[in-house]
Amino acid sequence: MLLSQGPQFKGKASKRLHVMAKPIGAACNIDCTYCYYLSKQDLLEYKKGCSPKMDDDMLEAYVRQYIEAQNTPEIIFSWQGGEPTMLGLEYFERIVELQKKYQPEGIQISNDLQTNGTLLNDKWCAFLAKNNFLVGLSIDGPEMLHNAYRTNRAGKGTFKQVMEAVELLHKHQVKFATLTCVNNLTSQNPLEMYRFLRDEVRSPQMQFIPIVEQKTFRTTAPQKWQPEEQPKQGDKRLIPGNANSVVEPWCVSDQAWGNFLIAIFDEWVRNDLGKVFVQYFEASLEAWMGRRNPLCTLSDLCGKGLAMEPNGDVFTCDHYVYPEYKIGNIHHQKLDDMAYGPKQQEFGFGKSRTLTSQCQGCDYKFACHGECPKNRFIKTRNGEEGLNYLCAGWHKFFSHVDKSMAYILRKTGHPVAHGKYSDAEMRKHYQAQMAPSYQTKF
Ligand code: SF4
Ligand code: SF4
Repeated sequence: MLLSQGPQFKGKASKRLHVMAKPIGAACNIDCTYCYYLSKQDLLEYKKGCSPKMDDDMLEAYVRQYIEAQNTPEIIFSWQGGEPTMLGLEYFERIVELQKKYQPEGIQISNDLQTNGTLLNDKWCAFLAKNNFLVGLSIDGPEMLHNAYRTNRAGKGTFKQVMEAVELLHKHQVKFATLTCVNNLTSQNPLEMYRFLRDEVRSPQMQFIPIVEQKTFRTTAPQKWQPEEQPKQGDKRLIPGNANSVVEPWCVSDQAWGNFLIAIFDEWVRNDLGKVFVQYFEASLEAWMGRRNPLCTLSDLCGKGLAMEPNGDVFTCDHYVYPEYKIGNIHHQKLDDMAYGPKQQEFGFGKSRTLTSQCQGCDYKFACHGECPKNRFIKTRNGEEGLNYLCAGWHKFFSHVDKSMAYILRKTGHPVAHGKYSDAEMRKHYQAQMAPSYQTKF
């Protein structure tokens, strides 16, 4: 679609893009076992002289370009790492200063900051609250579960520091969401995890991330896999921890992922609907309503969130920070040229174009869309390449919640556009039931 035909803002085509900026690259003060980003330091060859910190000139160029590239009422900056708080509070004060310098009249500027929380203190939290940052706090559940993988460089768990951060965020009324990695251990304890986040962390928004990494993830970019290395769905080599498994032992299995979501959904729907915000459930309701899923992983399109390294290199997605997926550098190209350029469009539309026939025929394609392409490294049982590793879990979850999704939407006066209990299916069902009596009457 031409930009001029889409939504307008201030009399011009509305333009929005999203970049996850990594001003400190992959550098981090802790050393989580499953971190997919730490290894980027080698992959992107930082050791050969690239600075791991975005310098002031680059920072200013980025802030200016990011603002200029957009034409929307709100511009959202996202800061990630590594651990961005290692840059110090002054660095973020400078970010806000630069944003004010380039802020166009009538446009709101917001910031998201993803952090492990271990460096937050009163001063940081006062700053974050004052400047209306939305903080994403990584926490993997109660102490034993969290400390299993989220350790510092001496191998000690970081739970206590993260819980101190939780209290500081509440004390200063900082907006925050929790990000919880669902791995081989946490996936086995869904209710313990959910109740902890709900009752002890008082998480305003729960986000769960399935941990899926092939053993080759440090060196082989997604979708550059060798077809002969892709096991078929159901193959034992897809079970984390099994002999010859193709995935890292800390990964969640497909079945465990489905079971994890189902256990939490059942508790949520019984006790917490309307009170606790679980991102996957809220997003799924949108899909059942017939809207585009707000989460890129479950949407039909991807490629709307670029990633940028401290040296200005831009990549198609945070999960595609590999040389093969570099689309430019903000020193040499404009951000919006990269975001709307042919390479990025091919990447974004490729998500739907490369769906397997199993996904094309799936009852829950509307809610899943084959999930994230980085996880599409298995074959269907018929041997077709490109099925999602988590497929069985997603399918199990979506079938389980289908009826409840329809019930919740009807109760709240919304249309039910999809699923086995959609408005259209219900009409067909009642018409079929009415038909015999209708015929006898006349
Ligand atoms: S590759 Fe995955 S994470 Fe990246 S935009 Fe696409 S769906 Fe989202
Ligand atoms: S549940 Fe499986 S088959 Fe259905 S769309 Fe998702 S990945 Fe494809």
